[in-house]
Amino acid sequence: MVRQIEIKLDPKDLYNEEMIRDKITRIFQLKGGDSFKYTIDRRSIDARKKPQFVLQVSVYLAGEEPTPSRPIMDSYRNVEKEEEVYIIGAGPAGYFAALKCLEVGLRPIVIERGKDAQTRRKDLRAIQQFGVVNPDSNYCFGEGGAGTYSDGKLYTRSKKRGNVDQVLKILVEHGADHDILIDAHPHIGSNKLPKIIANIRKTIEQYGGKVLFEHRVEGFTITGHRLTGIQTNKGLFDVRKLILATGHSARDIYHALLSEKIRIDAKPFALGVRIEHPQSLIDKIQYGAASRPENLPAASYRLTCTLEQRGVFSFCMCPGGLIVPAATAPGEIVVNGMSLSRRDSPFANSGMVVSVAVEDAVRHGYSGALACMEFQKKVEQDMFVIGDGSQKAPAQRLSDFINGNKSSELPPTSYIPGILSQRLDQLLPTDIYKHLKRALKYFGQKMDHFVTNDAIAVGVESRTSAPIRIPRSPDTLEHPDIKGLYPCGEGAGYAGGIVSAAIDGQQVVEAIMQAKNQK
Ligand SMILES: Cc1cc2nc3c(=O)[nH]c(=O)nc-3n(C[C@H](O)[C@H](O)[C@H](O)COP(=O)(O)OP(=O)(O)OC[C@H]3O[C@@H](n4cnc5c(N)ncnc54)[C@H](O)[C@@H]3O)c2cc1C
Repeated sequence: MVRQIEIKLDPKDLYNEEMIRDKITRIFQLKGGDSFKYTIDRRSIDARKKPQFVLQVSVYLAGEEPTPSRPIMDSYRNVEKEEEVYIIGAGPAGYFAALKCLEVGLRPIVIERGKDAQTRRKDLRAIQQFGVVNPDSNYCFGEGGAGTYSDGKLYTRSKKRGNVDQVLKILVEHGADHDILIDAHPHIGSNKLPKIIANIRKTIEQYGGKVLFEHRVEGFTITGHRLTGIQTNKGLFDVRKLILATGHSARDIYHALLSEKIRIDAKPFALGVRIEHPQSLIDKIQYGAASRPENLPAASYRLTCTLEQRGVFSFCMCPGGLIVPAATAPGEIVVNGMSLSRRDSPFANSGMVVSVAVEDAVRHGYSGALACMEFQKKVEQDMFVIGDGSQKAPAQRLSDFINGNKSSELPPTSYIPGILSQRLDQLLPTDIYKHLKRALKYFGQKMDHFVTNDAIAVGVESRTSAPIRIPRSPDTLEHPDIKGLYPCGEGAGYAGGIVSAAIDGQQVVEAIMQAKNQK
């Protein structure tokens, strides 16, 4: 019988095994010599008063053993001779779909416009240092998708614990730290992600799947109401089953779908700025101590409110992180955030965004399926036009942003391409700015010292989710009008984040298999 208990620890005692054993001994009234084993199943932080760690622990008394779970990789088989499924996009949705294919007996052929995770680094350096954006290889495009050089936060709002645990287990089997299985807020970091992603590719290839880099899909062949092929920059492919997992930034794919009259719909997204504080200030606000107590991670925050039926919320908070240039084409400025596994930069950044409904884009003069996407693109281009032709981003000190003042000079930032003092308050669409300003004032009341001129607002945070939804039937997960086309992941509007995209990839393959078995 497993006995589950909760143990609270002062942060300095987190790794004090003797203290944990002592607490267990006392809880179960064991004698000094009684042997037992324990596993830590969950680890969270309760920061409401004096911060402490809360551990969920399973205890096994003498003669009892934890049951080891079977590796997921044991269920993969060689699929070289099996039916082919084409997957466009080597992001979390695409790669987890490919792994699921190995489990169910389908042969995944992954087509990816970008380069492998390692080679991709050079193109990221070119963006950071020279402001040169390669439209096929950048922070969003390339092996591992937008997830590779991201923050690598792995929490999700998905309530399906089993699915989430499976994704985390697969990541551990490919080299992620075991801690992600127990942390309430698991995180990998962009220094470790590329290797894990490359290991996933090796598994796909080892079991007979294929990954083709630098293959950009440019068009779809539809015969009757069935998908029969794809056109790429490297030639044509006959395709019968296609998982389309191209992420939220593949604007060319949305155009290609529309040009074949394949139905897509405008979808709400969110728009705003990235805010950066000194990490020491956020630590002080959240932990209430002059310096961060030992073993506690760089502190984070989550802020949200609704104003006139519009949500304003912090997005993808990166404690101890960096602001990165996430544009996918020349002539636009887009910012996002990432961090390394240690989260030890002196900065804390987070998106602060306002939800944008389709009607908002229409009010700004856009129409049709691409309304939200065109609105998003225009704001990103405005941020570029005001600059000096590089990836330097417009910025304002936070109090100046709220009060509508140009900042006479700007504090240091983690954003490597550099920032330019501009009237970001005027560059943003007026309605977006108005909501941000009100919400920030409100957040400043909730979190003392949050609104300060020691923080900056940097523009623009616009790739929060896809501005398009590609419809699919809820039961078959196939496009309702086109047989063989399976919209998937964030770009199709069915995921928001690494874990939910991975789960969606798995579910699409399960749906394909279910339909196959019913024939
Ligand atoms: C800087 C940054 C930080 C982030 N931090 C986090 C985080 O901490 N936690 C989190 O959960 N989420 C984070 N995200 C979001 C997360 O990365 C995405 O939600 C997730 O990657 C979506 O997965 P996906 O597979 O649906 O699409 P993507 O990851 O976008 O993958 C799509 C893939 O399709 C490829 N592709 C696109 N068009 C074509 C084409 N025409 N032909 C061939 N291939 C094509 C792309 O190159 C890309 O590799 C972050 C995103 C960014 C940009």
